[in-house]
Amino acid sequence: MIFSQTDFDGHEMVTAFCDQRAKLRGFIGVHSTALGPAFGGCRMWPYVDEAAAIRDVLRLSRGMSYKNAMAGLPYGGGKAVIVADPRSDKTPELFKAFGRMVDRLGGTYMTAEDVGITVDDMRIVATETVHVGGIPQEDGYRGGDPSPITARGVFAGIKATARHALGSADLAGVTVAVQGAGHVGYNLCRLLHEAGASIKVSDINAENVARVQAEFGAEAVDPAVFFEVDADIIAPCALGSVLNKTTIPLIKAKVIAGAANNQLAGAADGERLHNRGILYAPDYVINAGGIISVAAERDDAATQASVLAKVDGIGERLREIYERSDESGRAPHEVADHIAREIMQRAEENGRNV
Ligand code: NAD
Repeated sequence: MIFSQTDFDGHEMVTAFCDQRAKLRGFIGVHSTALGPAFGGCRMWPYVDEAAAIRDVLRLSRGMSYKNAMAGLPYGGGKAVIVADPRSDKTPELFKAFGRMVDRLGGTYMTAEDVGITVDDMRIVATETVHVGGIPQEDGYRGGDPSPITARGVFAGIKATARHALGSADLAGVTVAVQGAGHVGYNLCRLLHEAGASIKVSDINAENVARVQAEFGAEAVDPAVFFEVDADIIAPCALGSVLNKTTIPLIKAKVIAGAANNQLAGAADGERLHNRGILYAPDYVINAGGIISVAAERDDAATQASVLAKVDGIGERLREIYERSDESGRAPHEVADHIAREIMQRAEENGRNV
């Protein structure tokens, strides 16, 4: 079942793929190519069933359309999911077979790394197709691991959100609670520490917590009670759907601004935050640094400076969203969705790029 799924949103294409010999199975979702080829990472996850994988590819590919549109990139939205366990099922044959699947789509979908996938995995995919990003380049803008640059964009977004909700972008003495000290969370903690913020951190991986405690003097928070934390700002940098009807009533912070994708369990949760007076930075706007960097690898004119300027511009984009939200009384996530849809619609009307 695809068309009747609640997460189906007029996706242009959803493809199931299988290579028995390579033990590869999964789905590619192309939500929109209005702005250009559908660009978005590939996730490897041991989904409980097919329906869960389809749901994820539908949600994630739609999110990429919005993210790319809001970041001003000449790309549409797509995503791939491979149904497998990244701890035990990775083989070169599997990634080569995935590369052939991507190649068959002839550039309609371009892939990159996402949860469960590394740059080295993508190097294998790239032996079978040119439609791959997120691999450090020899010439021009180098790119590579998007996590530090995602963290930089989140940091710019936290400052803009703090300015709007707390009256100042100065983070000295401000308490920020970070959920997830992984690739993005760790780099974000470094930037927060340098800015003089007081950091609280929570991770189910004790080593990741210990590193941030040792390097940045962070205070550990029990993951089970994370959303009850005493903090000015909460930065979700771990999982999706963490903002829901159970967690939102517990939140004491005035700002939610972090890297995780799909933080809202549903649109009603964005409304819940808004009604409680908590300013939420729409996830796909604040976490766009990585895709901005990955996209720049394919742009001959891109330089380190031009990429950083674009990533720092995330703060300005959020400011516009908050102002429109204040003027209209609509929640920021709704304002962001509206702007993204407008950008895609305008491109549709002006003629497709693919
Ligand atoms: P990661 O896997 O390196 O880090 C996630 C961390 O969260 C891990 O340390 C994990 O142990 C921890 N975690 C898992 N469940 C937790 C829980 N219940 N409580 C506390 N910690 C928990 O991933 P990442 O690359 O740092 O990405 C983090 C989030 O940001 C993801 O949602 C990802 O989709 C999103 N994102 C990442 C990028 C990027 O450039 N890496 C770009 C955009 C969005």
